[in-house]
Amino acid sequence: MLTIENLHAEIDGKPILKGLSLSIGAGEIHAIMGPNGAGKSTLGYVLSGRPNYEVTEGSVTFDGQDLLALAPHERAAAGLFLGFQYPVEIPGVSNLQFLREALNAQRRARGEEPLSGGDFIKLARAQAAALGLDPEMLKRAVNVGFSGGEKKRAEMVQMGIIAPKLAILDETDSGLDIDALKAVGNGINTIMRQPDKAVLLITHYQRLLDYVQPDFVHVLAGGRIVRSGGPELALELEREGYREMAA
Ligand code: ADP
Ligand code: MG
Repeated sequence: MLTIENLHAEIDGKPILKGLSLSIGAGEIHAIMGPNGAGKSTLGYVLSGRPNYEVTEGSVTFDGQDLLALAPHERAAAGLFLGFQYPVEIPGVSNLQFLREALNAQRRARGEEPLSGGDFIKLARAQAAALGLDPEMLKRAVNVGFSGGEKKRAEMVQMGIIAPKLAILDETDSGLDIDALKAVGNGINTIMRQPDKAVLLITHYQRLLDYVQPDFVHVLAGGRIVRSGGPELALELEREGYREMAA
């Protein structure tokens, strides 16, 4: 589904990714772990097409398409979803308005009919219920006054509505209490653990992996993948830290 080959990328002329290669197949959940400043978030931003992140070498193929040739909204319409470490607040725009606009923009880009208001509300309520978010919250402005856990549940609802092929979730576990962590883990498993979908979980700690079992774990250090293994690698890193991994 996603093939990254020898990816080099820089911000403001500073090289961050230095030859990163990674391949993610349909039905797989991959975790990327690594020390602070390793380039984990940079990888997510580069894949989503954020401005100022310049790819200087390498290639990324998503579902047979040259991902780097697509504009950010085209990447989203193609089925790529990025969950942020720090969700933005959008005063004056309700979750429902935001989600419907996001979904229908993608449907239009794929040549599909936009969802009607009624159908959309049904979908949104079902997703909210499945993730333990009070559907009333969807009427409130995006993330304004939401607790950390509510923001993450709202993000899972967003992911359920958008129904991406590949979700890249950056530090989705940061600052969550156990209940919220379970809800997020449950959301990822319910929405994304499917034969035609895949997940790239970026996480500093292993605790989210208690709730979402990854098929593969990779260590990102010094701008490239320095080790790959199964779920046991996450436990080893938790015990021993990243010291020997630093490039
Ligand atoms: P991680 O998510 O693994 O902690 P990041 O991808 O956020 O790491 O950051 C990787 C490196 O890029 C860090 O050294 C960071 O200081 C640097 N960096 C991030 N954003 C910028 C920026 N806008 N300008 C310059 N350097 C940046
Ligand atoms: Mg980060």
